[in-house]
Amino acid sequence: MTAKLYYEDLYDREFDAEVLSQEEHDGKYHVILNRTLFYPSGGGQPCDLGSIDGIDVLDVHEEGKDIVHVLASRLEGVNVHGILDWERRFELMQQHFGEHLLAGCLWNLHQIHTDRMRIEGENVSIDTDKPIALDAILEAEAEANRAIWADIPVEVIYPSMDEIRERARKLPPEDAELPIRIVKAEGVDYVPCCGLHVSSTGQVGLVKVTSVENHKGGSRIYLRCGKAAYRWLDSVYRELRKAEAELVCGYDGINEKIAILKGQIHDLKAQNDATMERFLKPIAENLVAGAEALGGYKLVRHVMQAGQDDVKRMFRLLTANNREVIAVLAGENSDGVFLTFGTHKENKGVDVRGAFRKAMEILEGRGGGSPVCAQGWGKKSDVMESALASAVLELKNNVK
Ligand SMILES: [Zn+2]
Repeated sequence: MTAKLYYEDLYDREFDAEVLSQEEHDGKYHVILNRTLFYPSGGGQPCDLGSIDGIDVLDVHEEGKDIVHVLASRLEGVNVHGILDWERRFELMQQHFGEHLLAGCLWNLHQIHTDRMRIEGENVSIDTDKPIALDAILEAEAEANRAIWADIPVEVIYPSMDEIRERARKLPPEDAELPIRIVKAEGVDYVPCCGLHVSSTGQVGLVKVTSVENHKGGSRIYLRCGKAAYRWLDSVYRELRKAEAELVCGYDGINEKIAILKGQIHDLKAQNDATMERFLKPIAENLVAGAEALGGYKLVRHVMQAGQDDVKRMFRLLTANNREVIAVLAGENSDGVFLTFGTHKENKGVDVRGAFRKAMEILEGRGGGSPVCAQGWGKKSDVMESALASAVLELKNNVK
């Protein structure tokens, strides 16, 4: 049985202990000590790391009443000295109690239950039992930060079951027995927890929600606490600075600038549409005038040096108001070959899909559509002429 020194003083960083057992597993050494400051992984809080007699501790976990330290190599002595990676431990305490602060405020303000706290690297996440609006989460975040500025002592207590049932935001299981470890910050949170926490709310430093997503009928909230929150804000600020420089404005003008740019793009697109329409219209008319007969239709076969937008535009010009035309169109550009085959949408007797498939097979492309309009991309290739010839042959065999 390992004595849990980490519950005695949350701020101790070094300790002496005796090795009770040491076993090799796959080149690593599983060590049980009579006492330890290393917190094992559990309850969403990752384990402590550090070293024992200078040997790296790779993992710490609980096995029954023992705490197993996984070490990179064998310990020589029986009496050993352990040192925590304090930076890591302190950040984990900030993250864990930061989560308590937000969860406590969500409960106090909105009666929202949270569950499944996980600390994963820089991120802490919690799940709520019902969906919650971002504004309500941010209100709880503001309250959590006010609790940080108030620097309220964080206490660990072992109260009566009656008190726990009356005050805790989360109840212990029906069959739970005393003593139950309660982590409390007066006026903010009161909850059963086995994790390690800073000794006052101020040490959390900052709680910042970074994203929210829907999750199993509730919400999953991601937050950053303490130093991780600072690092996140620092990286956001650096990205914002780049955007400010690109857009030549302050961060509070970025959305306005984006709206202006979007308007300009919209206007340019409309101008481009009108120009292309004027440019392509006489070409479309010439194509129809010179088209060969195909059954009762006119076959327009045409290859453009253009992308899909202009191929589609040409297709509309040829077929939207002309029930006579069957179009076999291809556009070539650096993206590849874009094909559009089809006819007026009410020409029930025409099905271009067989011809389209023939062409796509030769072009090793992908696409599809309806009997009156099939579209897709093929690889840019010198077999396009034979692909179109094969498609036209197929149409000639089928269209009466
Ligand atoms: Zn906890």
